[in-house]
Amino acid sequence: MTTDADVIIAGAGPAGSIAAYELASRGISVLILEKTRFPRYKVCGAGLTHKILQEIPFDVSEVFERTVNTIIFSSGFRDVFSRVSAEPLIYCTMRDKLDAVLLDKAVAAGARVLFGEKADGVRQEKDFTEVLTRSGSYRSRTVIGADGASSAIGRSVGLRDNIMTGLAWEAELTVDAKSLEAFSTTIFLDWGAFPGGYGWMFPKTDHFSIGVGGPASLSKAMMDYYNKFIEYLEIGNRIDSAPFGISVHETRSLKSWPIPVRVRTSRFHLDRVLVAGDAGGLTDPLTGEGIYYAVRSGKLAADAVRSYLEGASPSLDAYTESVNDQLMNELTEANRIKYIFNTAPKRIHRFVSDSDRGWRAFGKVLRGERCYADVRKGFGKWKFLWGLACRVAALVSDAREKHFSAHGFK
Ligand SMILES: Cc1cc2nc3c(=O)[nH]c(=O)nc-3n(C[C@H](O)[C@H](O)[C@H](O)COP(=O)(O)OP(=O)(O)OC[C@H]3O[C@@H](n4cnc5c(N)ncnc54)[C@H](O)[C@@H]3O)c2cc1C
Repeated sequence: MTTDADVIIAGAGPAGSIAAYELASRGISVLILEKTRFPRYKVCGAGLTHKILQEIPFDVSEVFERTVNTIIFSSGFRDVFSRVSAEPLIYCTMRDKLDAVLLDKAVAAGARVLFGEKADGVRQEKDFTEVLTRSGSYRSRTVIGADGASSAIGRSVGLRDNIMTGLAWEAELTVDAKSLEAFSTTIFLDWGAFPGGYGWMFPKTDHFSIGVGGPASLSKAMMDYYNKFIEYLEIGNRIDSAPFGISVHETRSLKSWPIPVRVRTSRFHLDRVLVAGDAGGLTDPLTGEGIYYAVRSGKLAADAVRSYLEGASPSLDAYTESVNDQLMNELTEANRIKYIFNTAPKRIHRFVSDSDRGWRAFGKVLRGERCYADVRKGFGKWKFLWGLACRVAALVSDAREKHFSAHGFK
């Protein structure tokens, strides 16, 4: 049976391009099908936490527009404080640039890419897999679905269960030159205003990316919250914060986009088809961060596919196992911490504000020096108390979300 490639990858976001780079660099033939044409705008804050530097196998610093070491925190626009880290925490980029660099590296390593080719689904036969598109079909030995939040590949092989949908609104705002300079190394983070959501401002070279995210059920309230967030940045909260005095000149690309979140161990492959990144629901339920997990899962997918194609493994089972072991354990822990946060947002806000321990732990997680699972480990022999607290917090958090969904900000 002749095939178009050993591996077909649907989607040239971070998950797809990193998987393609890893495979093509090792001499495996890769065909990427990408529905858009690059460079393309992607709704995303495009904040890369420092820990991602250990994972991307080449230097991408050319696309870093700002390096952030300061965070201005507020809780529902009140109790504002700022914290400065001696070391970089987050690198702000734009996705059109980042994704173009990742894809270029994959192509330079030998991957082929077809733009404007949207995968509609996949069919598995005994000797090959076939990706169907509007213009025809492409055959390969294995398929990686890296086709984002609505994954046609994931849907067509039934790998979408256990995915909850979050939602985020975001826009690119041009602002006055003084604010652009004053906040060039600063992120604004407002949390605790409503259950499971927060607002952010990420500085870029010539504008700010401003967004809000939370449970999809709260989409309408989130737009109200977005407007309040802009007002807070412009004129401050009338009650107790000083105005930041940011003057917004123009708002571009205000859009919402789903954030798929999986919070329990699941299957990430079916026979010879795998899903990675957003297609697998691999985003942090606490923060919505997904690029790091797209890169990690892209690499794990490449490892499993290579081992299968080279005959070292009889199946792709290792992929599901490694995603569950290495990523889902961490993401389920993040979800537990989200419940705890939703139960006591003000207390946690004060912990980060008043205690160096709280702030240092926050920075270490962003830098990859600590992980969410360390919170549980910190309880030692009392770990069961943490589990119990999380279960209670989940109930309180769900009740708060329902209440907010019914009553909004009133
Ligand atoms: C508003 C917002 C802000 C965010 N901010 C951050 C942030 O600051 N930091 C962070 O780490 N994460 C952030 N995220 C999450 C992050 O955007 C995603 O987790 C990340 O893009 C996932 O990468 P991916 O490669 O899996 O999918 P994507 O980046 O979505 O890439 C999928 C690719 O597949 C293509 N495609 C889609 N369907 C098909 C198809 N059927 N056939 C072929 N091609 C297809 C798309 O065009 C796209 O190029 C944010 C998300 C949102 C919505």
